Amino acid sequence: MNFIRKKLFLFFFYDPPNPDYAEILIADILGVAEHCTGQEVAMKSGVLCGVFFSVITAGGFAVDNRFAALGDGIVAGRIGEFEVYMLVENRGQGRPSILIGADETLWKQYLPGGSCESETNTFLIRGQDRIIIVDTGFGGAIFDHMKTLGVGPGDVDAVLITHMHGDHIGGLQRDGRPLFPKAAVYLAQQEKEYWVDRNPGGSAAAALAPYGSRVKTFLPGEPGAAVRELFPGVSPIAAFGHTPGHTLFLIESGGQKLLIWGDLMHVQDIQFPRPDISVTYDMDPAAAAAVRRRILDYAVANNIPVAGMHLVYPAVGAVKPDDPADRAYRFEPVF
Ligand SMILES: [Zn+2]
Repeated sequence: MNFIRKKLFLFFFYDPPNPDYAEILIADILGVAEHCTGQEVAMKSGVLCGVFFSVITAGGFAVDNRFAALGDGIVAGRIGEFEVYMLVENRGQGRPSILIGADETLWKQYLPGGSCESETNTFLIRGQDRIIIVDTGFGGAIFDHMKTLGVGPGDVDAVLITHMHGDHIGGLQRDGRPLFPKAAVYLAQQEKEYWVDRNPGGSAAAALAPYGSRVKTFLPGEPGAAVRELFPGVSPIAAFGHTPGHTLFLIESGGQKLLIWGDLMHVQDIQFPRPDISVTYDMDPAAAAAVRRRILDYAVANNIPVAGMHLVYPAVGAVKPDDPADRAYRFEPVF
């Protein structure tokens, strides 16, 4: 089934390179190329497509947008005219020691198994004749996933950076050469000022240096305020606290939205029910907690699905209010 899904997603998300591609592809899936007439292939592929979308719609997705697994470590979906791909960069185990002020009792309450998964993700967005990467992870699996999607590093037009921590900018350069040779890199003015302008000899400055004049800065807007788009349908939103210029990106098209929220959260099993708990990676833990709650409220009030760099697979879903007395939330992943 995964193989069929992958093939069908490739079929639906890409412009066929030639008019016969769809039929060849479906024939490839069915293994019928040499045994069926075109009409039979068309009939079988119609049934197959019907089954495929029945599976998707019967899956009980919590958000309107259809997201599904595409091979190992890729989740694919659509936001209006944009194709959105969540790409898993790496997986590991979360550690209780990163939670500020959370004792062992709390850890056991929400994680009775004693451990939780953790993940680092990146995103690829394609639409309007533009390919956008949001964060680069460590520069590892992201390039394998891009290859799976048929995207080369030289095809990427823009790299959006949520913030300048190493697990987000580790794929920008190697040995002083840009890994996205034609892309412009976009980050918040506040983030660049803190990491680069004040520390021109640091690793963050070295990550941006190969891009020269193709480094662009912006001033992120407030959630719900007038939209300041970087590109049509892509708006940066301020969520300062994790870092001085930590930015979320709101994707909007055709009446659908997705908020890619960077590092708003690191231990989802605890931080959805207890969003006031920050982590040691949050440079200003109080500001990070305040903006975390504000963004959760914003996502709930506006029914905006979210995706995160450290939410675990599928890392895309809906925020729901939970216990009102505790002002707690819960997460409903797309599958
Ligand atoms: Zn991170």
